[in-house]
Amino acid sequence: MTDHPRPVVQRFSGHETLEGAGVRLRRAFGNGEVPLFDPFLLLDNFGSKEPADYLAGFPWHPHRGIETVTYMLDGQVDHGDSLGNSGTIGAGDVQWMTSGSGIIHQEMPRRSEPLLRGFQLWVNLPARAKMGVPAYRGLRGGEFPVETTDDGARVRVVSGRFGSVEGPVRGISVDPTYLDVTLPPGGKFQLPLPPEHTAFAHTIDGPVRFGPSEGPESPAGETTLFGPGDHAAASAGPAGGRFLLVAGRPLHEPVAWYGPIVMNHQSELSEAVRELRAGTFVKERRPVVEE
Ligand code: FE
Repeated sequence: MTDHPRPVVQRFSGHETLEGAGVRLRRAFGNGEVPLFDPFLLLDNFGSKEPADYLAGFPWHPHRGIETVTYMLDGQVDHGDSLGNSGTIGAGDVQWMTSGSGIIHQEMPRRSEPLLRGFQLWVNLPARAKMGVPAYRGLRGGEFPVETTDDGARVRVVSGRFGSVEGPVRGISVDPTYLDVTLPPGGKFQLPLPPEHTAFAHTIDGPVRFGPSEGPESPAGETTLFGPGDHAAASAGPAGGRFLLVAGRPLHEPVAWYGPIVMNHQSELSEAVRELRAGTFVKERRPVVEE
């Protein structure tokens, strides 16, 4: 490994918000942060032991121009969409949904004991793919390779590469890396990343130190944005730690954002709203299932 770890440029504690039909969740980052996380738009952390916080769910709603990536740690979410897909996202599962030109779906958490815990990441699509054909990938937990390093780090690979393994989610526009990393007490982690990629970590169990060894400690729930360098580095304290590590190629394109629809220009948002009212928003209805 070369000696240029990516520095920590900014840390985000997130804020509580109500989404869907009244789901209480923590937004790690969102439209106030554009374009810092380009190509990533938003990260929501929905974790609660109180069913009243999440049972209202996210009833039928549209998406256009983005990908939504749901990763469940605990509990279950039922879903259905205008492509004809339906099912349940359970603990360890990932749904990687490419809305393209338009999808209408619902995401309804089930009463989950002892808790519901998961993340939804929004990945922007490049202008040329925003009106593309929608795609849906539902992956079970067992489909993700897990690498254990000499330092005892346990790395679950959703997308991108870690060491000799590659995650099963492939063919995504921004060439993403999406890892779930668990560190033992005192454990260390390093991953070379393309220098031009935007990279961040979200701490699940902390504290974890990111960046050069003298970096600050990141508590659970905090998001750490990395600056330029040739690898992302992390180390855990005496309690060990766990975090998501996400990276992708920035798009450097204008962002026009209206709720669940993210395009490049205001005129495209107006068009989407017109189509929603006219019932012509969804262009593709045939079931498209990519594994
Ligand atoms: Fe959605």
